[in-house]
Amino acid sequence: MADNQNSNRFYEGRCAPFDHEPTRDNLAVIQSDSKGEGLTTLKAIKEGDVVFRFWGPKVSEQSLFTLQQAPGVYIEDPLVMGKVLHACDPNMICDMQTLTFTATRPITAGEYLTMDYDTTEDVLFRTFTCRCGSPKCRGPIQGRLAQGQPVVKQSHLS
Ligand SMILES: [Zn+2]
Repeated sequence: MADNQNSNRFYEGRCAPFDHEPTRDNLAVIQSDSKGEGLTTLKAIKEGDVVFRFWGPKVSEQSLFTLQQAPGVYIEDPLVMGKVLHACDPNMICDMQTLTFTATRPITAGEYLTMDYDTTEDVLFRTFTCRCGSPKCRGPIQGRLAQGQPVVKQSHLS
């Protein structure tokens, strides 16, 4: 049984097993035409439940697969956390001290798991214009330091 569980670990060979770690029994990375690569849940999740805890080395370089723990300090996980898509009204919140994602509402099996990148990142590694479709959608997502400030748009004044 233990062997079977181990084979479903995303982090097999990277770190020792731990509570609430992501496994392929619960989560899947899928590719869709509209949203690209993203993390989905295979099982229904209740509001307030821990969805998963992630693991990764502390690094000083930001990338597409890091989240900010403190200014200049990032956790890097290209396998699971790094696949979580952004939404302006997300179904998870991220605690960067415990590296825990918690459900903000009931999530159905097959749904993309999402977080608000502005809640962890001072400045995004790669800014983008969100099209999550929520009435709360903020459009340009740049990091929390940019919130409420005018967006610099590319323009050609000549
Ligand atoms: Zn949005």
